[in-house]
Formats: sequence, structure tokens, C-alpha cells
Amino acid sequence: MSYISCALRAAAPRRLPAPWRSPRPFSNAAGPPAEKNVPYQKTLKEEGTKITGPSRPLPPSAEVVVVGGGSLGCQTTYHLAKLGVTSVVLLERDRLTSGTTWHTAGLLWQLRPSDVEVELLAHTRDVVSRELPAETGLHTGWVQNGGLFIASNKQRLDEYKRLMSLGKVYGVESYVLSPAQTKELYPLMNVTDLYGTLYVPKDGTMDPAGTCSTLARAAAARGATIIENCPVTGIQVRADDFGVKRVHAVETAHGTIQTPCVVNCAGVWARALGQLAGVHVPLVAMHHAYVVTERIEGIQNMPNVRDHDASVYLRLQGDALSVGGYESNPIFWEEVSEKFAFGLFDLDWDVFTQHIEGAINRVPVLEKTGIKSTVCGPESFTADHKPLMGEAPEVRGFFLGCGFNSAGMMLGGGCGRELAHWIVHGRPEKDMYGYDIRRFHQSLTDNNRWIRERSHESYAKNYSVVFPHDEPLAGRNMRKDPLHEELLQQGCVFQERHGWERPGWFSPKGTAPVLDYDYYGAYSQERHKDYAYNQLLADEYTFDFPPHHDTIKNECLTCRNALALFDMSYFGKFYLVGPEATKAANWLFTADVSKAPGSTVYTCMLNKRGGVESDLTVSRINPGEPGSPLAPAFQGDGYYLAIGGAVAQHNWSHITAVLQDMKLQCQLIDCSEELGMMSLQGPLSRAVLQEVLDTDLSNEAFPFSTHKLVRAAGCTVRAMRLSFVGEMGWELHVPRADCVRVYRAVMQAGARHGITNAGYRAIDSLSIEKGYRHWHADLRPDDTPLEAGLAFTCKLKSGIPFLGREAVEAQKSSGIFRRLVCFTTDEKVPMFGLEAIWRDGQVVGHIRRADFGFAIDKTIAYGYIRDPAGGPVSLDFVKSGSYLLERMGVSYPARAHTKSPFDPENKRVKGIY
Ligand SMILES: Cc1cc2nc3c(=O)[nH]c(=O)nc-3n(C[C@H](O)[C@H](O)[C@H](O)COP(=O)(O)OP(=O)(O)OC[C@H]3O[C@@H](n4cnc5c(N)ncnc54)[C@H](O)[C@@H]3O)c2cc1C
Repeated sequence: MSYISCALRAAAPRRLPAPWRSPRPFSNAAGPPAEKNVPYQKTLKEEGTKITGPSRPLPPSAEVVVVGGGSLGCQTTYHLAKLGVTSVVLLERDRLTSGTTWHTAGLLWQLRPSDVEVELLAHTRDVVSRELPAETGLHTGWVQNGGLFIASNKQRLDEYKRLMSLGKVYGVESYVLSPAQTKELYPLMNVTDLYGTLYVPKDGTMDPAGTCSTLARAAAARGATIIENCPVTGIQVRADDFGVKRVHAVETAHGTIQTPCVVNCAGVWARALGQLAGVHVPLVAMHHAYVVTERIEGIQNMPNVRDHDASVYLRLQGDALSVGGYESNPIFWEEVSEKFAFGLFDLDWDVFTQHIEGAINRVPVLEKTGIKSTVCGPESFTADHKPLMGEAPEVRGFFLGCGFNSAGMMLGGGCGRELAHWIVHGRPEKDMYGYDIRRFHQSLTDNNRWIRERSHESYAKNYSVVFPHDEPLAGRNMRKDPLHEELLQQGCVFQERHGWERPGWFSPKGTAPVLDYDYYGAYSQERHKDYAYNQLLADEYTFDFPPHHDTIKNECLTCRNALALFDMSYFGKFYLVGPEATKAANWLFTADVSKAPGSTVYTCMLNKRGGVESDLTVSRINPGEPGSPLAPAFQGDGYYLAIGGAVAQHNWSHITAVLQDMKLQCQLIDCSEELGMMSLQGPLSRAVLQEVLDTDLSNEAFPFSTHKLVRAAGCTVRAMRLSFVGEMGWELHVPRADCVRVYRAVMQAGARHGITNAGYRAIDSLSIEKGYRHWHADLRPDDTPLEAGLAFTCKLKSGIPFLGREAVEAQKSSGIFRRLVCFTTDEKVPMFGLEAIWRDGQVVGHIRRADFGFAIDKTIAYGYIRDPAGGPVSLDFVKSGSYLLERMGVSYPARAHTKSPFDPENKRVKGIY
């Protein structure tokens, strides 16, 4: 028998705590002998004779073909069938579960730092614990043994308290326990080094074979066709009359199925399947492992344990434990084999050993416990540790449901349901942007360096505390704007969004460049020493106000009192031009943008259900010169679209899909890289810009919401009078080559007036203070403009139809049952979102976005509230309540505002100071 502590000696004697230190390594360099075997009583693996050929005849056509019979394929097929799609075929190369699913650990935790994820997890739990047993009479193997998160420091417990507050909103029962209470619950646990724990009694463990076979049976009973032993070998893609690529058919050695829709649920093989259709699937395959111990007396019925600080989990396995975690140096599976079914790798003890010390520390009896088997299998990982879902931008009808980062069991039910909805209704029901393939810019999804680096970092940091201002160190400097070097020299601390380096804030301590990724020293890479940028990030690993709070305050107040320059060059800048551009604009945009050239309009774009897919500014333009990025030539009408750079791909894909579906004669042109953009904001912006621009900037000559081509420092630029921060100001849209010149001229003119550079941390604070919405924070695809207080963007008084109009009108007549509300707290306490909102003693919602407003000197928080009695949420309802915001288990009195607490009359943007 091999003991866990032997494994520790075997691979890394230098890491041993003193009592176990051995003068020489364990003689068996490969580690202790242990079987490779999953701990499940039943798998779907076929013993004995292998069936050749498909388990069922292939139909000639299908509405949807799902490829892959693991957790995701089975869940998606079941949920499609539940939505009434009976012509759905699941094709599995081998037997169901044979990829990653069969050897999963199957843990399901209900709490995560995201409201959407909490809902997705809740649905999976409901499917395996209630829905499937009720529907089929079968037990899926679900075990509700509870979950225990370990905190060995204050920050970690703070993070858990945040989760607990969020859990209250969704009715997830959880308790913060002291070390003594934890010991009572889990007597075998060492609690001497504990700060506290979070106990979630209704967490549990899923059984892969039980779950997938029950899903398949329930789906088949609803009309789905499940075909095993049938590898997909090709995907036919055809261009339609407008040149749009669409899925046409799926090929196998046993026949071809004609279909307009393929769902890629092929796990680590999803990349190869994508290639068959010309679709990039940005994931990597890695080895991921746990070991199964021998019997442990007294472990029965204990909850599963997640010790984040030790990067280890302990899963109850009958009367034993499975021990696994996330290593700093995971092994990439470079050549993903097609032949791999019900397979496992040899465990590399050199890599796995890093978990053992933490496991023994937490449950000391493990030191003398034997290892029965090792389970090391392939799993797919992505750049941000989130799945890849939704319709691929390259090919219509090709959907992704892959890249599940060792959470594909617990997320399977929620994601399967959303994917089914996406396929049937064109959009998911929930806000799935965090998982949508379109969250990545297309220039990144086939960049192997970026995928590999980012996937490594996300894997290695998976158990790290998620701090609000953290940034990745991997895959940086992919897209630099024209002012990058100039700003770097002035102390710019960059944030990464959509591959771009955008200014976060400006450090007075000097330059802090982002260096090439050093893999945190893994794989024998040399670690950077004295890495200033990394140090600045580490300084902010807190849930208190960050140490740079006053620097950001200075940027904000300089903007409010004088002026600040914001480099917003990472913005998406698109032209919508052509004979039917106005027809397209009328349909796409909620606001009437078809005004005279020179106008600029803030608008939303909606989905069919009235949810907000985007907010942006649209400027009507005159035709210019062929090839000019500033004023292109076109026939018909032209519109210039300026869109937050982090969501450019999403906007691009949304607009493109609408144009394709409507078969409109117009073109969308991307000039994001060719144009820079700087925004001058503040009461002195006019005085300064008047020295640089050759045009009259008075209110009469250049009113709010207008734009002009003007000359600045000898260059032609498009000046636009707009504000993201609630001040008088102008954006300058400038050809790339002229950006530095224009920037220097503005900074020189501004020097006498106290100009400052400012970044997105300041924009975040200033914009929330003014009540401007951020898409994908307080404005999402599951929020309507009426709920978000943006009814003014909808041209409901006109007769012009627009996408989502019917849903908005229906909501207007039936009433608004949730509403975005602004809160302030007098106590200066940092909030970051996810805090629970209490109204008159009842939880009515949670905070989506929060920040500190320096001009009003208060914490500001926005969240949607509901009436617990189920009635409409009127402004009177908002005003009449008494509110508390619960942050990390502590409640703070809050005031609800029905107008922005800063400059509610909008005087400043009009130049009235
Ligand atoms: C050690 C380990 C522990 C884990 N622990 C947990 C956990 O505790 N909780 C949790 O939620 N998740 C966990 N996971 C992750 C979870 O198991 C996976 O995310 C999930 O099983 C992935 O399911 P899938 O359907 O995406 O992929 P897979 O299960 O790999 O399914 C893909 C299927 O596609 C088939 N296929 C591929 N190519 C083709 C083709 N051309 N034609 C037809 N079929 C094809 C394959 O044969 C395979 O069956 C763990 C993973 C590992 C490795």
C-alpha cells in the first residue's frame, strides 16, 4: 500500500514539513504504485466486446445535431427536447461519457461570485436532484452531503461573506462557522490554522454515469435520437446568396445528416471539431487529476471541502476521500488523440505532490491513509476559466458548448438549458455574455500564445481570491493603441480588455510596464524580479479601499474641477454605410438616429425580448474620401458607431447577424485599429480645446450631442461633444498616425489649466456618480431599457419599428416588475457589487455595480429591485422603502435615489457651471 505522505516524499522532499523530511527521495521516481481507476461503482464503459458501427441508424436530416455525449451534450440535448425540439440528434464517437465526464469528481458548489452562475448552478442541482428523478423515476446518483469552504485568512473569509450575502438573494442556505463550530461539524479536520469556514448544507456530488444515462433516457422519451459509436468526420458549410457561411450538414462514416445547426459539445476535441467547420475554438487540453484514498474511519457523511488557500479539494467518496486541486504547473496535452475513450493518464507525482501537504494539513489522518487509485484525465481550459458558448462568429448555425474548465458537471444543467434557449430563440434567457464566445476579439481566438498563456494563468489562479481590481499577467500587450508608449512614460497602469491595453490609472511612482508572461516561474521559466506592475496589482489585493484610492480620487476631482484627458482609443469604431444603412439603423437602434449629418445620439440595441444587447453612440455622417478612416466614401447613408472596446466583438456580431438575417444592402466597416480616441472632460475643457481646435466651441456653434470634422494641431479630427462622466467635454477621434501629435498639443494647452491624464478607474467612479450605465454591469441582455431607466432611448412615440420594440411596448403596458435603483450610503464603505439589497426587512435584489463617488463623497451602488409581493415596481415603491445594503454579512443603511445624486438636472454637460 502507498501512503499519501509517501507520495509527498517521492516527488518533492524539499517541500516536506520537518517531521516527514527524508534525506533521500523515495526510490520509485514514478511515485507510489496506485491503480488508475475511477471511484464510481458504475460507468458506461463497455466491457468485453466492443460494438462497431452506430448504435442506431442515422436520420437523413435533423433540426439540430449535438456532437459529443458528455455532460454538456447530454444536458443540451435534454433541454432542447424539453423546449419541444424533437428533431435533435446526439452523435457520440464512442459511448456516452467516454471523454472527460466519466472520471469527473462531480462536485457541485452552489455559491460563486456571480449572480448568473449561482442561477446556473441552482438549475443543474434542480435537474439532478428533483427534475430527472420526477420525470424518469430514476435516481441520478446525486448525493447531498454539503460543502465547506475553508478560509485561512481574513480576505478569504471576506470573500466567503460576499458569497453568503449573494446566497441570501437566491435562497441558498449558507453559514459562516468559527473554527470550533467547524470542528464539531467535521471532527477529522485540523482547525488550528483556520480563520473560519463557509458551510453550504445543500451542496453535493453528482454521479456522471447516472446523470448522463438519465438525461439521455429522458431526452429520448421526448423524441431525441441518441447515437453512440458514431464519430463526426466532417461538417459541410455553405455560403448563401449573400455570401454568409452557414452550417449545411454533418458527415460521419455511416452517413450524412443535413442540418442547419450543429452544437459543438466535444470537450477537449472541440477545437478539432471547430476546425472541420473553419471555426476557432480557443481552448487548451490539460491533464487534471485527483487521487482516491483507502477507507477512512469517521469520514462518512462529511461535506466536501474546498481549501482554496491550499489549492486543494477533498471530496467525499463513500467512506474515503478524493483529493485534487489546481497546480501551478499543469501538464498540457499537446497532441489530443482521437482514440482516447474511457482513458486516463499516468499521474505525474512531481506535479500532483503540491496538493498533498495541504490535504494532510487539513485532514491529518490522510498522512497514514493509503492511496487506492489515481484519476488523471483530460479537461479543456480557456483564457478566463469560463466556458465557450453561443453561435460562432465565423459560421452561422455553429454553436459552442465546450471549454468547461473543470466545472462542466455542475454548470452542465444551467448551461445546457441556456444553450437550448439560444438555439431555439436566438438568444439565451439569462445574461450569458460572460460565457459567450463573442466576449473575445476574433484576433485572439486563433492566437496560440494568448490562449496558452491565459489558460495557464487562469488554471493556476483558479483558487485565488477574486479581487475587484485584479488584472491578468498572461497574454498581455496583444493590442496597443497609438498613445500607449506616451502614456506608459507618464506612469499609466494598464488594464487588459478584449486584448487591448487600456489606461486604468496613473501612478505617480513612475513607469510600470507589463512584461512578457513568466508563467509565475512554472516550467523552469525565470520569474521577473522587482516587477513593478505586478506589485501595484498585489497592493490592491483587498476588499477595503485600495491604497491607490487617493490617486484615483485626484484624477476624478481634477476632472470635476478643471479637466482630464481620457485615452479611450480601445473603443470599437465602426461605420454602417450603404443604400439601406438608414433602414438598418432604424431597425437596429432604439433611438431615432436618422437625423441630419452632424448629429450624435446615445442609443441601445435590443434583442427580440427587449433585453439590452448594447449601448453606444451613433453619429450620422456625410460621405468622405475613399479609404479614409475618419470620413470614408459611401453610397447612400452613413453612420459612425462608437462602442465600448471591451464589447466590440459582441456588437460587431450582433449587427452583422441582424444585417444578414434582414438581407440588407449595407456594409459594416471596422476602423477600430485605424483611429485613436481621446476625450477631454471638465469645466475647463472648452477653454483648453479652443486653443487647439480651429472651430468655435460655444454652446451655440457646437451644442451637446453633435460632431464635426475639424483641424487640430495641423491634423483633421472628428470632434464630438459628448460625455461619459457628466461634464462638458469633447471626444477627438483621430487617425492613428496623428494621435501623439494631437495628444501633445492638448496636454500642452492644458498644462496651464491643471490638466491630468486619467484612466478607466476614474471613468468607473465618475460615470456611476452621474448615473451613466455600464453595459454588462448595470445593463445586460436580461434587462430592458424600461427597467434600466433608459426609456428615453426608445423611439416609442414614432411609428418606426425596431428590434425589441414589441417586447418593450408589452412591458410598458403590463408594468415594470423590476427596476434599477441608485443607492448611496453615508458610511464610507467600499462596495464592489453582489451586496444584498434589503427593503423593509426583506431581500429585494442585489447590487450589480458599486464604486465610490468622490464629488458627492459617498459610496454609490446600483441594483435591480423587485417587490416581494410580486407587484409592479413604481417610483413610489422605490421611494417609500427603507433600505439596507448587506456587505459581507454587515448591513449599512442606504438611501434610494430616483435621479442621479450628482448634477440631477444635467447642467454640466450643457456647459452650465
Ligand atoms: C479530474 C477531473 C475532476 C473534475 N471534477 C469536476 C467537479 O468536481 N465538478 C465539475 O463540475 N466538473 C469537474 N470536472 C470537469 C467536468 O468533468 C468536465 O467539465 C465535463 O465532464 C466536460 O463535459 P463535456 O461534455 O464538455 O466533455 P466530454 O465529457 O469530454 O464530452 C465530449 C464528448 O465528445 C465526444 N466527441 C469528441 N469528438 C467527437 C466527434 N468528432 N464526434 C462525435 N463525438 C465526439 C467525446 O468522445 C466525448 O464523449 C472534472 C474534470 C476532471 C478531469
